[in-house]
Amino acid sequence: MKRFALAGNPNCGKTTLFNALTGSTAHVGNWPGVTVDKKTGQYKKLDEPVEIVDLPGIYSLSPYTPEEVVSRNYILDEAPDVVINIVDATNLERNLYLTTQILEIDVPVVIALNMTDIVKKNGDTLNTEALSKKLGVPVVEISALKDTNIDELMKIADETSKNPRKANLILNNNDPLYHLVNDCRIAIEYKGVKNPLFHAVKLVELDELETADHKDLIPMVDEFKQTFSDDIFGTDFEAYMADARYKYISKEFSHVYEKANKEDKTAETKSDKIDKVLTHRIWGLPIFILIMFFIFHFTFSEDLFFLNKIFGLEFTNEGVINYFTGMGYEGEALAGIPSLGVFLQSWMGFLSGHIIGVFQWICSGFKEYGDVAAEAASATWYGSLICDGVLNGLDAVLSFIPQIMLLFLFIAILEDTGYMARIAFILDRAFRKFGLSGKAFIPMLTGFGCSVPAIMATRTLENEVEKNRTIRLMTCFSCGAKAPIWALLAAVASFAGFGYGDIFVFTIYIGGIALAIILAIFMRVFTRDTYVSPFIMELPQYHTPQPRNVGAHLWEKLKHYVIKAATIITASLIVIWALQTFGVENGSFGMVEDMNNSLIAYLGKGLKYIFYPCGWAIGNDGWKYTVSSITGLIAKEDVVGTMALFFNNGSEESLEATIGLSASGIYAFAIFNLLTFPCFAAIATAKAEQTKKEFLKTLGFWFGISYVLSAVVYWLGSLWEVAWWGGLLVTLALVACIVIASYFVIKRNKKASSIVTE
Ligand code: GDP
Ligand code: MG
Repeated sequence: MKRFALAGNPNCGKTTLFNALTGSTAHVGNWPGVTVDKKTGQYKKLDEPVEIVDLPGIYSLSPYTPEEVVSRNYILDEAPDVVINIVDATNLERNLYLTTQILEIDVPVVIALNMTDIVKKNGDTLNTEALSKKLGVPVVEISALKDTNIDELMKIADETSKNPRKANLILNNNDPLYHLVNDCRIAIEYKGVKNPLFHAVKLVELDELETADHKDLIPMVDEFKQTFSDDIFGTDFEAYMADARYKYISKEFSHVYEKANKEDKTAETKSDKIDKVLTHRIWGLPIFILIMFFIFHFTFSEDLFFLNKIFGLEFTNEGVINYFTGMGYEGEALAGIPSLGVFLQSWMGFLSGHIIGVFQWICSGFKEYGDVAAEAASATWYGSLICDGVLNGLDAVLSFIPQIMLLFLFIAILEDTGYMARIAFILDRAFRKFGLSGKAFIPMLTGFGCSVPAIMATRTLENEVEKNRTIRLMTCFSCGAKAPIWALLAAVASFAGFGYGDIFVFTIYIGGIALAIILAIFMRVFTRDTYVSPFIMELPQYHTPQPRNVGAHLWEKLKHYVIKAATIITASLIVIWALQTFGVENGSFGMVEDMNNSLIAYLGKGLKYIFYPCGWAIGNDGWKYTVSSITGLIAKEDVVGTMALFFNNGSEESLEATIGLSASGIYAFAIFNLLTFPCFAAIATAKAEQTKKEFLKTLGFWFGISYVLSAVVYWLGSLWEVAWWGGLLVTLALVACIVIASYFVIKRNKKASSIVTE
């Protein structure tokens, strides 16, 4: 099968094109590091299907970043039939820098000039013909986002792939370096190495991969250095070449892109205007926090806009109450209007309750629908397994799905508009002084989706210390699978006298970011590490979120949840059900009346003492929380599934009403589950990314920090409850520690710059 490779700068639209070509739903991220590995798919509209390879985004073919190495090796070693070089037309000159290097390889190339929809909208013009003529390769104007001209591009790529192409060099023959490159090329060609021109140029640049491969030719370059030194760059030929490329591009191609309105060149774009507000030096961070707050408010609040808390709004009309609560509350008044998320969750709960009801009715042998059937079903082993075990646990996980999808809808919109990329920038600017680079925030923010790709994305960090630190702090960023835990605890909060479910979830997310920053500061104090990665990032233009992107993102999430629920979660629920249903009672083994006599209760009661300091493990139900946390290692959704099994087993009350955690208990339990070991999949990923020693340290860190902070939160919370002045005192002392640590870190840090372009 023919293979077409997509190569280009980060954010030029490779993944968007890849998805359009292959019908796949790969993640379109607005930041670098999302695609470290290449992805493949098939395009089927030509005579024969072709394989499309989405390479990681790169600015050059020098081996400075893992992305560059992956892309370079692919093009050189795997010799694709054609390289489709995607060029962002709105950033033409910068993008062509990579193009000049790709053209030094003996491979057929087609240029896909992307984002032409923006060019058209601005009324600007492109002289594609001149570009194609000078570069000597076909150039096709496309818009990956709007699906324009994509099949045309593939036809031309297919044609192009039929003829081999000879590499060409941007230096002309009166350039001092031209002859050196040429001599090296001949020497390399003589050794029988493919793509001699490319290797020759990289050798002259003394790129580390090349010098290792062709040690014998280094003297040739060194000898030349005796005879030639540039006025500006001296004998730094790498800088000389970079400059030569930019000069060439600007000389040959600056006229290719013509702005409609010449005077307008420096005028602000709409994006600039939005950025003036959203990435404002002072207001940027508070605005981000406010946006996050509203997202959680609309998803988790039971009292929208605090209408009940502030104005005492209440509903007593039964029709209204049932409409808002999915036929939930009977007789009670409804305090305020529930948010959309709570509304969806109530109705989903109503629906799934009836689904379980039907199964209970069947398992009971068609007794009276409702409580009678439920009791009869629980008495049989299969009714207990199906209704109390699997369905009850799955219901707890799945009934939060509409609510969690709403949360992800908001996050997907933030990402697709281009705002998420700004968050890394805002955080970089705010915390660079404390030794934290935006480069590390990017994988961390990816962690809000899933820790597995997030931990993989730490490969983009070239500094080992920073990479290990980022992996360890990953659990501070609540992954999607933990969302049902927060949704459940938010519902529990309203029974624990702390009614603000939305504020609870908001503090888990924002508090997680804050905690990661504080922990990173302390880690820097203790490791005596002073390096801060430079942060280079391009801010994409804002655009209205595309239903296709957002929809694809949500669909992926939903599919993932449902598949996980049907496989791994169901399987673990069956095991937990068995351990909880069987045990020793009255001296004989069998199904137990009282769950406290079950096998799992013995196990949990033994282990719970370990977690006594954390508060939530104290008391009769302590073993249930302990076991639930442990099952979370299999999949974080299992925490909720297991709790449903333990707390709602045949009970008439709702799950959240039977969980008896106090406000500090809720927080302590949440903190423990947030920070402790992630699921096995993420643990395995960390193991693959770290050395054995660092990995063991990571495991220790995850357990230690979750244990200690859970205990601190519990005791501090309890102290506030009994003696607020004591709580205040200890809190102030903790804040003082943070301030002192930050001071040391700021004082010691090396200066490192960050560059953000637009
Ligand atoms: P990658 O980093 O090269 O994979 O780029 P992505 O495919 O993730 O795209 C980066 C951003 O550019 C996304 O927000 C896309 O929606 C947007 N984008 C991609 N292609 C086009 C296009 O043709 N026109 C416009 N207006 N935006 C595009
Ligand atoms: Mg991409």
